[in-house]
This record gives sequence, C-alpha cells and structure tokens, in this order.
Amino acid sequence: MTEPTVTDTHAVRAVDAAGDGASGASGASGASGASGASGASGASGTVRSEVPSAPVVPVVARTRDELVEARSALGDGDVAVVMTMGALHEGHATLIQQARRAHRHVVVTIFLNPLQFGPKEDLSRYPRTFDADLDICTAAGVDLVFAPTPDVVYPDGDPGVRVSAGPLGDVLEGQSRPGHFDGMLTVVGKLMHLTRCSAAYFGQKDAQQLLLIRRMCRDLDFPVRVVSVPTVREPDGLAMSSRNTYLTPSDRETALCLSAALRAGAEAAPEGPSAVRRAARAVLVREPLALVDYLVLVHPDTLEDVPEWYRGEALLAVAGRVGTTRLIDNLPLLVGPGGGALETFSQD
Ligand code: AMP
Repeated sequence: MTEPTVTDTHAVRAVDAAGDGASGASGASGASGASGASGASGASGTVRSEVPSAPVVPVVARTRDELVEARSALGDGDVAVVMTMGALHEGHATLIQQARRAHRHVVVTIFLNPLQFGPKEDLSRYPRTFDADLDICTAAGVDLVFAPTPDVVYPDGDPGVRVSAGPLGDVLEGQSRPGHFDGMLTVVGKLMHLTRCSAAYFGQKDAQQLLLIRRMCRDLDFPVRVVSVPTVREPDGLAMSSRNTYLTPSDRETALCLSAALRAGAEAAPEGPSAVRRAARAVLVREPLALVDYLVLVHPDTLEDVPEWYRGEALLAVAGRVGTTRLIDNLPLLVGPGGGALETFSQD
C-alpha cells in the first residue's frame, strides 16, 4: 500500500472529528484522544475526497503517560517537533507550518523551562496563553501538543546531570545569561527523547540557540535532523517575539532600531566587515533609549568576530534592553562583493 501523504493524514484526522469524535475535542482534554491519532495513521485514504479538511484540535498530553500513549498512536514514522515556551505568534506558526508541509506528524511542545531562566529573568511574568496557543496549533494541523509542568519534565527536581554547551555557550547571550544554554540544551535533549522526533524545527531568530542545538545533535549523535526557519518579522521589521508583549508603544518604536541597524549593516556588506559594523552602530547610537548589550559580526560556526579581510557568510547579531525588556535579533549576511542579507546560511 502506498504511504499516505501528509495531506492524507490530515484529511483522515478531520474524518475522525466529524465522524465519531474520537480524536478531536476529546483529545484536547487528555491522552484519551490518542486513539484518534492512531486511527489517522492506520486508516486508508479512501474517504478523504468526500470529507472537507476541517481543523482538528490536537491531542494534548500533560503527563509522561499521556505523552507515551499519544506519541505511540502516531507510529514509528516521521515525526517533527517544534519546541516552544508558549505565547505563540506568527513566528512559531511559520515553524509549525513548515514542519507540517514536510512531515507526516507534527508535535508541538509548550514548556517554560525554569532551567534556562536566571534568577533575575522573566520566568514569572512570561506570557501564558494556552487557549490561544492551542487555536494556533489547531489551525496549523498539529497532531499532538505536549504541555507539561516542570515536575513532569524534572520529576526528581533540578537535574544533577546536564548537557554542557561548552565555550560556545559562554559568549554573546551566554555572557549575559550564565547557564542559560546548558539549561536550554538539557531540555531540548530531553524533549527530543520524549517526543521521539526525527526532525526538529528552530528559528534563526535565536541563532546561538540554533547553532548549539545543531552542535549537540552532531557531537552527541542525536538522530534528529535540525531544520532552521528564517526570522519572521512584523511589517515594520521588528522580529516577532513573545517578549514583544512587554513593550509599551514607545518601547516598540525604540525597539525598531535593532532591525534597522541590521538592515543598515546588510547594505554595507559589500564593503567588508568594518563597514558593516560601522553602519549598524551608526543606527544604534541614534537611539539612546536602547541599551545595547552587544552588536557583533561573527563567523556563523564559531561566533568569533570576523577579521577585516574576511569575505563570506557571517552573522550580524544584536542584543539590547528596551524599557524592561531584553531583545535579540540577527541577520545572516554575505560579506564581500555582491554581499547583503541572506535568507539562511548555506549549511541550513
Ligand atoms: P520560544 O517560544 O521563544 O522559545 O521560541 C520557540 C521557537 O520559535 C524557537 O525555535 C525560536 O527560535 C522560534 N521563533 C521565535 N520567534 C521567531 C520568529 N520571529 N521567527 C522565526 N522563529 C521564531
């Protein structure tokens, strides 16, 4: 029998919802909905042309047992995961849609990982919008949402054994957020194991995170394909972020200097590294209300400053505080003749 395509699976899930109701809404409240997903993977595609593809609420698993049941129902095939901290926006939706197009099943995790937040960071005020998140997952055709609490992910409390990000975790974001990347990699590793994914989608928006996850998968032989997705921006250039909700209207105006600086840097890319840095810095100094933490032009693999003679792909990255909010942004560039902003790095 021919393997059903991604769209087939989707249509069959819709049949479940419209028919006996075994998967959709019941799945949303607990692992019982896993039966619906199992129906999807086992059903033939014969009914699909008769039933319009209505969105189906994903199965929601909150415990390990619920996850095991719901995940088994998806079978051993191709499962992509999109890991998030919730407060989903169009950036997250884009990751999910891209995963949806390329894989038979998509799992979204929603987990605010205490391990990656410092004591003075924004864990307690981080926006929590589960119902809206579930609507986004439903519209994007997600099969399974894993939304655990910290005691589910860390049943014995803080893990004594953690993944170490190594020296790449100490620079840039790691300098302002000690331990952040160890905590991030530890949970990403755990979620890769728990969801048994074959692919994982991450945003270029968090460039250092993406690099470290790629490194972890390579260095520790995780059998997971890491896929990057270009940064999704507001029409005025601001990189979408769950933290943008903290910005007052005037903060938001101020925050535009970050993406404007990156664009200015990209325009100067044909002239070489110091022209890029100069052009980006010139934009930032005109905005005293943005407290810039760093502006760097670095090699995308080593995160080391590129020398003046360098020509090739580089990452222009910026971080700063606007009002009470710390924001980051970056742009992949080609530096040198014909250079400018890149959609993605060639290794992606
Ligand atoms: P977060 O919920 O902020 O941890 O983000 C979850 C995933 O979404 C990460 O892989 C982020 O890099 C990605 N992401 C967040 N914002 C954007 C954006 N504006 N464009 C593309 N990906 C994003």
